[in-house]
Amino acid sequence: MSQRLLVIGGDAGGMAAASVARRRSPDLEIVALEQGRYTSYSACGIPYVLGGDVFSLDQLVARTPQQFRDRFRIDVRTGHRAMAIDLDKRSVEVHNLAQDRTYKLGFDLLHIATGAKPRRPPIPGIDGSQVYGVQTLEDAAPLLEEAKSGRCRNVVVVGGGYIGLELAEAFIKREAMVTVIERGAEVMGRLDPDMGALVSAGMRKHGITVHTAEAVNAIEPGTVTTTQRTVPADIVVLGLGVEPNSALAAEAGIATGVQGAIAVDRRQRTSVDGVWAAGDCCQSRFIVTGEPVYVALGTVANKQGRIAGINIAGGYATFPGVVGTAITKLCALEVGRTGVTEKEAKRAGFEYVVAKIESTTRAGYYPGAGTITVKLLVERVSGRVLGGQVIGPEGTAKRIDVLATAITAGMTADDVVYLDLSYAPPFSPVWDPVQEAARRASGLLEARG
Ligand SMILES: Cc1cc2nc3c(=O)[nH]c(=O)nc-3n(C[C@H](O)[C@H](O)[C@H](O)COP(=O)(O)OP(=O)(O)OC[C@H]3O[C@@H](n4cnc5c(N)ncnc54)[C@H](O)[C@@H]3O)c2cc1C
Repeated sequence: MSQRLLVIGGDAGGMAAASVARRRSPDLEIVALEQGRYTSYSACGIPYVLGGDVFSLDQLVARTPQQFRDRFRIDVRTGHRAMAIDLDKRSVEVHNLAQDRTYKLGFDLLHIATGAKPRRPPIPGIDGSQVYGVQTLEDAAPLLEEAKSGRCRNVVVVGGGYIGLELAEAFIKREAMVTVIERGAEVMGRLDPDMGALVSAGMRKHGITVHTAEAVNAIEPGTVTTTQRTVPADIVVLGLGVEPNSALAAEAGIATGVQGAIAVDRRQRTSVDGVWAAGDCCQSRFIVTGEPVYVALGTVANKQGRIAGINIAGGYATFPGVVGTAITKLCALEVGRTGVTEKEAKRAGFEYVVAKIESTTRAGYYPGAGTITVKLLVERVSGRVLGGQVIGPEGTAKRIDVLATAITAGMTADDVVYLDLSYAPPFSPVWDPVQEAARRASGLLEARG
């Protein structure tokens, strides 16, 4: 008799594993449970639908449940929520939401990909009906209605994480008055504050009000009260980051690690034999320090899902880890980060030099050239690149990929300086900005000896 693989979660981490397992293991019975209506969707595209750049949420679906059933012979059950996992009996309690019926489903192999959920710290009023956290397409639908209706004139974004900022831009495009309130020194806590300040300035230029070093005390219908002021708020959008949706696994006795994310090894195996996990619900290994880390990104979820699928099907594959590479576009700015920030470098005990330069995205004389800021952290004695951040206009963000590659490969600043990167005036100066930053870092290392 064939074995049954049960997948919980129908997006990147779940369906990547299910489809890879199907390709490699034609006899496997695969059942995928998804509590929502959609499978394999791009939550990353939600801000662009809300802002009107992309027409509809349906366009964000890469593969529908029916396509998985027809092409992959995967028994996708949408509107079915996994309620509890019984590891001794190898079964999951499932709630069919439409029929309000609960049943048990046995498994031989289990893959958990339950994703993440927006953080909701205990701020009075945070669970109000006018407060929106966005993780899935279902979450986005009511917010899209609000955005289209033109009813919400005043939008307050609580927290300056990248999702909140992308949603802030979307509402500015819908001609709302948008206020971002961030408790930290600057928005985008995954950047150093000096780089985050450039993002705040860019957003203010676009008409978004940004208050930093200010905490939200209470949310009430119509207003948000901070440590400094009361701001009108027809709706409130959460931008406080996400936390792993790992309670189902934890309650079953599966080990969790950093920030409560499911602990996995390099093959995406959990602490329990025959149980895998991938994506935003689980942790990764941070290549720079070798320590476990929680990074909730679509890039990681897809790769981890693929690794899990290969192993589930009896193959052998390992996930090398992450360097924390992320990019975003905020108003006229592109932002990228990889590796460690200064705060993270200090915490990890690295001694480092910082090179921060301004250059141009194209040759200075070429039309459309704009100022790009590159910040590079390089380990003092070894010269190894530890981290990088880039901010500038169009043509900036994807430059972070050179630095991500350098960090992954353990390259030094000198290695980056002499990389044979491409050049033509419409694309870069003759020394690409990341190489100019590496040259500066190299000089600082020499000066310090
Ligand atoms: C607005 C926004 C913008 C983003 N932009 C980017 C970006 O630009 N780049 C990037 O790399 N990443 C981005 N991300 C992050 C990216 O979307 C996630 O990392 C990715 O979706 C994670 O995939 P996942 O499958 O692990 O989890 P999810 O996408 O969260 O999917 C988990 C699924 O499991 C289902 N589920 C949960 N519990 C149960 C249960 N008990 N039973 C049944 N089903 C369950 C959920 O309904 C959900 O569909 C963005 C996210 C958001 C919200």
